[in-house]
Amino acid sequence: MIKIVVAGPRGKMGSEALRLIEKTDHFELVGAIDRKHDGMKLKDIKGLPPFDAPVYTSAEQALHELEPDVLIDLTTPDAGYFHTRLAIENRVSPVVGTTGFSQEQLDLLAELAEEKEVGAIIAPNFAVGAVLMMQFAKWAAKYFPDVEIIEKHHDNKLDAPSGTAVKTAELIQEVREEKQQGHPDEKEILQGSRGANVKGMHIHSVRLPGLIAHQEVIFGGTGQTLTIRHDSYHRESFMTGVKLAVEEVGKLNGLVYGLENLLE
Ligand code: NAP
Repeated sequence: MIKIVVAGPRGKMGSEALRLIEKTDHFELVGAIDRKHDGMKLKDIKGLPPFDAPVYTSAEQALHELEPDVLIDLTTPDAGYFHTRLAIENRVSPVVGTTGFSQEQLDLLAELAEEKEVGAIIAPNFAVGAVLMMQFAKWAAKYFPDVEIIEKHHDNKLDAPSGTAVKTAELIQEVREEKQQGHPDEKEILQGSRGANVKGMHIHSVRLPGLIAHQEVIFGGTGQTLTIRHDSYHRESFMTGVKLAVEEVGKLNGLVYGLENLLE
């Protein structure tokens, strides 16, 4: 049995993680971290599955009293970083879907996990299809160095560009030489119209109600384009990856960044 605490249980992703735990026999929810319902039981919070598990506002207190194996964090960049650090310091393995951490924060967490000899997983996208989309994009970039990324998300998303778009750009950079795209004399008539510039390739962020998480990676070559596209239509799409990460994180030593490192 893997004992789990969920941070952000009322969120769109957090509540989906509760449903995953509810239907997985070898997962046990021992508590939750929620800044608004200290001292309550999860089952007393409207809309959540009927878990008897207690709710804590203090992450520190939750980890000390509940002694979970795994902390699943699905909150915001600031709270997520704080929780992840705290978990590693207390030798609890974090599985983090929260996006928006800086490279400096990721480096500090990696250092800490290594020092404490704790397994940790941070994945900007837990959907297996999205991981494949990123890998296919890396492969294509070898042959098509001209590429633009268009990511589209719901309008409650706090960070832009998405963690997935940044990760895709990083993977592409591993095989693509730095190259400025577009016309050398190109001028933005409206500031920002060409999107973010990552070593010459561009990322565009769309935020609209109705969307969940979508990304297109468009490659251009002579007389042709290649589009690699992934769509998450429901947040359940992320839960296969979360389940795998919870099962694997205890076997790791140190921080793994990206679900692709857990897939064969
Ligand atoms: P959401 O619905 O806004 O949920 C965020 C939750 O975090 C809310 O319940 C919120 O509670 C809680 N929260 C905010 N600040 C907090 C704090 N200081 N301490 C404790 N809890 C706090 O967002 P979401 O769509 O579920 O997304 C959550 C995170 O997952 C985001 O970073 C998002 O980008 C990421 N995400 C990752 C993946 C992936 O596959 N890795 C997929 C989708 C989304 P309040 O009501 O109190 O504010």
